[in-house]
Amino acid sequence: MVLSIVVPCYNEESNIDVFYEEICRISPELPDDTSVELIFVNDGSKDNTLLKIRELTNKDESVRYVSFTRNFGKESAMLAGFEAASGDYICVMDADLQDPPSMIPEMYALICTGEYDRIATRRVNRKGEPPVRSFFAHMFYRMINKLSDVRIVDGARDFSIMSRRMIDSIIDLKEKTRFTKGLLEWPGYRTKWLEFKNRERNKGRSKWSFFKLFSYSIEGIVSFSNKPLIISALLGVILCIISLVMVFVVALRRIIFGDPVEGWASLVCIILFVSGLQHLSIGIIGSYLARLFIEIKGRPLYIIDEEKTERK
Ligand code: UDP
Ligand code: MG
Repeated sequence: MVLSIVVPCYNEESNIDVFYEEICRISPELPDDTSVELIFVNDGSKDNTLLKIRELTNKDESVRYVSFTRNFGKESAMLAGFEAASGDYICVMDADLQDPPSMIPEMYALICTGEYDRIATRRVNRKGEPPVRSFFAHMFYRMINKLSDVRIVDGARDFSIMSRRMIDSIIDLKEKTRFTKGLLEWPGYRTKWLEFKNRERNKGRSKWSFFKLFSYSIEGIVSFSNKPLIISALLGVILCIISLVMVFVVALRRIIFGDPVEGWASLVCIILFVSGLQHLSIGIIGSYLARLFIEIKGRPLYIIDEEKTERK
């Protein structure tokens, strides 16, 4: 059996060696008939990440890598890793040791039972994270679970071990805007969730700014739900009904009370409110249109600069 461990890396030069040592430490705990294949995906790092990875490749036969021409994002890096992986089981984890490698033997034993196609993990707390980020993260999970058909677990990490057939299904999903947390839920294979306490990253900084996370969450909602479109259409219907009633009321008032020139304030409020709603709806439609545009262009999700893999 081969276990492929896919590691997306963007500016992780200070973590690669420590990460590798951690993996070496846990691999004796895996069954004797299992070998590990480490696949680093260098996502256009601007530091010496690629150099560090190459050094490991020279030292250790089982280390492989794919290197992009520029930064394409973690989603693309994970896909490239999945496509390059030759293992019977595929694990994906971050390079910064926020995903504890010590859990791998337990996860591997579970997936080898054949009862599950995915052993996934979630953080039970968000210690060490800015409270504002945690707050918005919780809001996001509540919203996306209300809006979409796939259920996305709060605190779910990408860190998981998956079976070959599950990875093949994920690779088959050809969409260009990849919200992996949702994509992994979509095929519906049996999943076992394990929990762990949050850890702070080993070295370096998180690459996720607030704005990046915000647009990522919009991507998640747009990729997995049409409900915002339905909601905006519903708002339109409600406004139409209100306006019909108002036409009637205003006409009656005109007939009964004559035409005193009044109501400037209410008029302004109505104009502002309705034009706000219109812009919101246009924005919602625009988000879907933008995704459509990206899909239609059909650009590749990444371009490989160099690689050392088992790919035939
Ligand atoms: N990452 C990547 N490309 C990017 C951003 C991040 O490959 O454009 C990798 C990064 O090197 C790390 C993982 O994705 O291994 C998670 O990133 P990070 O630790 O910044 O995210 P956080 O843990 O803060 O959510
Ligand atoms: Mg991290």
